[in-house]
Formats: sequence, C-alpha cells, structure tokens
Amino acid sequence: MDLYEYQARDLFAKHGVPVLAGKVASTPEEAFDAATELLKEGDLVVVKAQVKTGGRGKAGGVKLARTAEEAREKANQILGMDIKGHTVHRVLIADGAEIAEEYYFSILLDRSERRYLAMCSVEGGVEIEQLAVERPEALARIGVDPNVGIDEAKAKEIVDAAGFDEDLKDQVIDVIIKLWDVYTKEDATLVEVNPLVKSAEGKIIALDGKVTLDDNAAFRHEDHEALVDKQTENPLEAKAKALDLNYVKLEGGSVGIIGNGAGLVMSTLDVVAYAGEQYGAGPANFLDIGGGASATVMSNGLDVVLNDPDVKSAFVNVFGGITACDEVARGIVAALDILGDTADKPIVVRLDGNRVEEGRAILAEANHPLVILVDTMDGAAAKAAELAAK
Ligand code: GDP
Ligand code: MN
Repeated sequence: MDLYEYQARDLFAKHGVPVLAGKVASTPEEAFDAATELLKEGDLVVVKAQVKTGGRGKAGGVKLARTAEEAREKANQILGMDIKGHTVHRVLIADGAEIAEEYYFSILLDRSERRYLAMCSVEGGVEIEQLAVERPEALARIGVDPNVGIDEAKAKEIVDAAGFDEDLKDQVIDVIIKLWDVYTKEDATLVEVNPLVKSAEGKIIALDGKVTLDDNAAFRHEDHEALVDKQTENPLEAKAKALDLNYVKLEGGSVGIIGNGAGLVMSTLDVVAYAGEQYGAGPANFLDIGGGASATVMSNGLDVVLNDPDVKSAFVNVFGGITACDEVARGIVAALDILGDTADKPIVVRLDGNRVEEGRAILAEANHPLVILVDTMDGAAAKAAELAAK
C-alpha cells in the first residue's frame, strides 16, 4: 500500500524523523483554520496536494502562502485539481521551510540482490530518475544487508559516499538511522525523502515523504488498517480483500482470470495476452484462488470477476493438485446459481489434474449455457479472448 505524504510524515514523526508541523484540510475553510494556527509560530505555510503520485510541485500542486487568506485561496486552487489522473481531495497545510539546500534519500527493496538498497544524493531538487541517468556518479547507491540493517557505520558509509559537508554529517546520519527505523519497524518496502532539506537555520528536515508498506506484513500492524483510503480504493479490490481473495485489478483488459496458484495465474495472464493480441483483448485482473480452494472460494471469485464492468468473458484455469477439480466445478455451478440472471458473461473453463473427470462430469451435467469447457490452456485462452472481443 502506498501512503499519502501526510501519512508518511506521521510515521516519520513517530520514529523521530524531523518533519515540519502540518494539518490536513479538505476544504478551503479548513485550510484557512490550519494556516491560522501554523502562522502563529512562523511566517510561511505550504499548501500541498495529497495525491499518490510524484511531481506535484511541477503540476502546480505545491504552493507557498504567507497569510491564512492566501492559504485558503491556494487550497481552493489545488483542491479538485487533476494531477496525473489523481483528483486532489485533500491538501496538507504545513509549516513552510526556508530551504538552503535540497538532498535526496531513499531505502528500497533490491530483489535481484536479495537485500536493501539505500540511495542518497546531495543534488536533490531535481527528478531523481533524471539524475540517475544523466549523472549516475552523483547518486550514491549503497547495499544494505538485511541481517545488519542501517547502523551508525552503514549510515556513515552512505553519508560519506553522497559527499555531505562535514558539519552536516552527524545530523544526516541520525536522520538516516531514524528513517531505517521507519523502514524496518513499519515493514515498508520503500521509504523515500525528496527533498531532504537543510533549512536556513542549518537543520536537516524531511520535507516530502513517500512510503510503501508491505501488505503481507499487515497482520503485524493493526494501526496500518486505518491508513487505507476507502475513498479511492478500487471497489472490486476492496470486495476481494474482504472475501480474503488474492485479487489485483489490471487496466485495459476484458478477460477475467481465475486460477489456482500464483504461478499458474501469471502464466494464464501471459497466454491470454498472447492469444488476445489479434482481438485487442487482454487480461482484466489477476485472481488466485489458492490451493485447496473450496466451492465457496470459487463462487466468491466468480462474483468479483463477473461484476467487473470491464470483463466481457471469464477464463477459469485450474490445475487440480491439492485443489480438486470436482470442488471447483461445484463452485462454478454454485456461483451461477447464486448469481442467477445477473451472470450474463461467458465462462471458459479448463480443468486438469486431480479429479478432472468428476469435475468435467459435474459441469457437463449442469449444462449451463454460459459455461464452455475447453481441454487445453492455449485453446481456452483463445476462446476466452475471442468471446471477449465479440
Ligand atoms: P513533489 O513535487 O510531489 O515531489 O512535492 P514536494 O513536496 O517534493 O515539493 C516540491 C518542491 O516544492 C520541493 O522540491 C521544494 O522545492 C518546494 N517546497 C515544498 N515544501 C516547501 C517548503 O516548505 N518551503 C519551500 N520554500 N519550498 C517547499
Ligand atoms: Mn518530492
């Protein structure tokens, strides 16, 4: 799960990372009130669009204000703005910093090296992707052993490699260790600070934060549930989550995919993408019903997939191992019973493996007009893509 900037800042503050005081507002009036409060202390606030995408500054989603009236006006301009397809529903009103210098710091998961990677640069303020391409030597990349983490020695290595001034090193080392706390104690897969700044008073502050939390660790963090944004959550994904299904919506496709086992579902996506090329039909989702899936799980899965308006046909691809094909077949029949007339999309089914004969017999017996049995995976993918294109 990606967090909003204000949520990332809250986590930073919780672990002692220096951030500026701020408050979230969803109306210009709330922005006025928040700015009034903040301007008692300082003489500058910043109004920042809260959207889960970068480049808000360039898009006009970050504006400075010196009075509460000005903050209200800037909030009015930013609220409702569209930034790269994300509508702005909230702004963060934060203490404005007088920036002396901008730096970059991030920690991420380096899957290919099976470790973490810390990246740091004293040349912040530019797009980091651009810096990495144009001047790779200006971006320090330091591997982090997961068994050791970022201790003082590792933080020093990072700070030295980035080339911070001597008088800043201790402060930056301290902030980096605290950011590592955020990364590891919150089970994040990404913590990025761009920019990390030196204020006019020489203080190091995390001015913008981007955090991705590892959903697989959600069970360890009861407080993370509250960070889920119900307003912009995909309703199908929310429904699938509530049903405990492993579902990911994919953009642009029209063939709903259900399979057992992540590996099989992944290859089903490939096969459907390939078969669908000539029709302009691709996979609309990923749904893994897992091993040993019961009839209920199957019918829940079909319910989610068939209710996706993008889906024109469904492809159920099951290789029975622990999952028995007759259970799956019963699930399909049960689901169609429950869905009744609301089910009006063809369902191509390919069953193989454990109890395949029994499974096929159940479907043949039910003889449902929407169900089409195909024996091979390639054949079924071609059929599902063709039906989606009709
Ligand atoms: P992003 O464009 O989505 O990454 O949003 P940022 O929060 O990084 O803001 C973009 C830029 O706005 C920063 O690089 C800063 O130059 C500027 N900015 C953000 N907050 C402040 C602030 O408190 N004071 C000042 N002076 N500039 C700020
Ligand atoms: Mn930024």
